[in-house]
Amino acid sequence: MNDAVLDTHDSDAPIFAPDAFRLTEAQAELIAKARRFGRRVLAPRAAKHDREATFPIDNFRDMHPEGLLSICIPKEDGGTGADFQTYCLAAAELGRFCGATALSWNMHVCSTLWSGPLSDDLEMSAEDRALHIARRKTHYRRIIETGAVYAQPFSEGGAAAAGGAAFGTEAKPVDGGFIVNGKKIFASLSGSADYYGVLCTERAEGEKASRRNTLYLALPADAEGVSVVGDWDPLGMRGTVSRTLLFKDVFVPEDSMLMPHGVYFQAASRWPHMFLTLSPTYMGLAQAAYDFTVSYLRGEVPGMPPVKRRMFPTKQIAVAEMRIMLEQTKALWFQAISEAHANPTQEQVIRAYAAQNTVMENANAIAVKAIRTCGGQAMLKSLPLERIYRDSRCGSLMLPWTAEICVDRIGREALYEPGEKDE
Ligand SMILES: Cc1cc2nc3c(=O)[nH]c(=O)nc-3n(C[C@H](O)[C@H](O)[C@H](O)COP(=O)(O)OP(=O)(O)OC[C@H]3O[C@@H](n4cnc5c(N)ncnc54)[C@H](O)[C@@H]3O)c2cc1C
Repeated sequence: MNDAVLDTHDSDAPIFAPDAFRLTEAQAELIAKARRFGRRVLAPRAAKHDREATFPIDNFRDMHPEGLLSICIPKEDGGTGADFQTYCLAAAELGRFCGATALSWNMHVCSTLWSGPLSDDLEMSAEDRALHIARRKTHYRRIIETGAVYAQPFSEGGAAAAGGAAFGTEAKPVDGGFIVNGKKIFASLSGSADYYGVLCTERAEGEKASRRNTLYLALPADAEGVSVVGDWDPLGMRGTVSRTLLFKDVFVPEDSMLMPHGVYFQAASRWPHMFLTLSPTYMGLAQAAYDFTVSYLRGEVPGMPPVKRRMFPTKQIAVAEMRIMLEQTKALWFQAISEAHANPTQEQVIRAYAAQNTVMENANAIAVKAIRTCGGQAMLKSLPLERIYRDSRCGSLMLPWTAEICVDRIGREALYEPGEKDE
């Protein structure tokens, strides 16, 4: 796609204006950097990776010198030290320009966010903490010094990714490390990441599988026994190249642990906003669909004849409806990402589900309306709108917080106190 396409309407405006949303100067700068990077680097490459369903590894190589691979690595370890909210806002800016890159970047950044600031909020013994800090430095050094890219495969096609059962992928403790066996589906960055941050169940011989024993291990992509199989030809988010990973007797040393024993299980219940991190990409897509529509109706899309269509009342009403939906989405989402911390109240968790559901559903609803409003010429593959439409369709399907699961939980948690049952 021509990057100028997204440049025409309010090209420099961030999704969340720093003054209006009371962001610090440091946040505003980092978010502006992400936006500039998105426009300059991601936008021109997005159409090709979408068409060919190839992974945009070139974008990740270019992120390295910009410090974007280390955005959430703590400052004392050489990273930028962005917190949860800042990361989400930066990721939304990337999502405006290439959904697949923003979504894959999320998988990489989560390996540092979860092992970094999020783990710092959780309980562990002094000994475990010291070991964890030493271990994560190894991962962080790889990212900062060599630009290593981490994936985050946890989906398996069963109940585990939704949090309902122990992961079927298992790590058997052996002398000095673990032997990993299992399978992950929909592994974004498959075949391109340097490490796979695998969620699996630690299980000694004869032991029962338990979610409490979930381990988060970084498996080198070139380790013996790791393979990528199956094809990848989906409706949207084609550049994520989310193929199937197989692990057959893969040995990894103890140092590959991204979290100490028991800490992932603790995080999932005490830091639930960790699962909200798929949403920024879709916040960006919602904004992109709206921006395109305004530019198109004003006759300002480069490469298109400068035909204005904004004078029709039906177009004005459609844009107003899109804008209302966008503002509602932004307001709720901003609130949810701003109150993410350890031990949230039930109210805050319900709001996080509501925000996830709203962003995932509204991003696609806005894109649907954009296509209807702009008309036939706007859905040609030479323009970004039809890609935004297809990419935005994927958000509500993503576990562990699919749009349906969010609805399920909001209804149940609003009507039942914890532990309460009907007679
Ligand atoms: C573009 C893309 C990239 C992805 N990248 C990754 C990645 O990098 N890493 C990764 O781990 N995963 C990734 N995923 C996978 C994603 O998170 C889901 O695991 C995947 O879409 C699973 O779909 P499924 O049809 O197998 O879900 P199923 O488990 O078959 O569920 C089907 C539907 O049933 C509903 N459902 C399921 N369980 C429950 C429940 N307990 N209660 C109520 N309703 C339920 C949900 O609404 C769900 O959408 C990606 C998905 C997409 C689309």
